[in-house]
Amino acid sequence: MEKHSNIGEMIGNSLFSLLANVDIRRGEELRTDAEALGKICVSPQARYLFVSDYTVAVDEKSPVFSPRFFTYSEVEQNGIFRETLGNANYLGSVDDLHYFSCDTTTIVRNLREKALLAGIEAKKLSDGGCRPKTRDRVLHPDTEIWGGLAWGSIRNLAPEWTPAEAGLAVEAVALNNMWRSARFCAECGAKIEVQNSGWNGACQRGHLLFPRTDLAVIMAITDDDDRLLLAHNGNWEQGRYSVVAGFVEAGETPEAAVRREVFEETQIRVGEVTYAGSQPWPFPKSLMLGYRGRVAQGASTRVIPDGVEITEAAFFSREEFMVALEERRVMVPGRSSIAYMLISDWAGEDLTRFISW
Ligand SMILES: [Zn+2]
Repeated sequence: MEKHSNIGEMIGNSLFSLLANVDIRRGEELRTDAEALGKICVSPQARYLFVSDYTVAVDEKSPVFSPRFFTYSEVEQNGIFRETLGNANYLGSVDDLHYFSCDTTTIVRNLREKALLAGIEAKKLSDGGCRPKTRDRVLHPDTEIWGGLAWGSIRNLAPEWTPAEAGLAVEAVALNNMWRSARFCAECGAKIEVQNSGWNGACQRGHLLFPRTDLAVIMAITDDDDRLLLAHNGNWEQGRYSVVAGFVEAGETPEAAVRREVFEETQIRVGEVTYAGSQPWPFPKSLMLGYRGRVAQGASTRVIPDGVEITEAAFFSREEFMVALEERRVMVPGRSSIAYMLISDWAGEDLTRFISW
């Protein structure tokens, strides 16, 4: 039975678009216009997002811990984080507001380190009243307070945010990750200076560097009976299963990567491969390309896990899968992941009640 009819709706309304920056006008022309951007960044239309590793400053009074956007004067008056203004990246505009991000990672890490050294644990936000009442699932509780601000995990909280909020946060994290890991020129070793409001870097000798994205493929592979191939990674907690994924190698097409990764990890030969959708995944710097694939005609469906990365793998019918979920033998990936979208699309139903990570 064909159950893919709702994928268009899911792409339009859910996480595919949620993390795809659909509502953000990136304003490429402003990145190089120092005069115009200089006026905008101090204007009442400017908003600043503080990013530390994979967390952003969030509004602790918001039921979904929405990202907290500060005005220029609020940042300037913040004695702890003010210094990050000088290296703010320009994210673009939504409606009539212009958004910037500040890399506060070093400051927050130092605060955490100092607190740990002093033997003080981060003050956790209490559960009461701060969790969405509209869902039976509780949000991940890893929200911490540092420097007088609440910081929340993008991966765990973004599914509850608006597409623009999630998109801005993902864009900000991607830029932070880029420049935190590209401090020196790969060609000559000189220091890299970030330019154009975060959108390129250059060394003294003029070697240019642009924010980099690593392509990864993630694929829902089904057999002739429409059973889905699910795999358990040896590093994961017991019962955690997902669809197979892997990086696209140099000089390889995504379609070839789908077939290669599935064969390497499970010894299953994939024939037809079709594109399903994509998702920025800046943890640290991937773009996930989602595919659906069918077992090659006449090929064996005997699954042999590689025993290194994948320690268990099997084809599941929908009935087997739902029973395994109900009995808690199998857990599905987090709602912010394209893996979840591919699996729930195949299952033909909302699986959020079975999410554990
Ligand atoms: Zn160089």
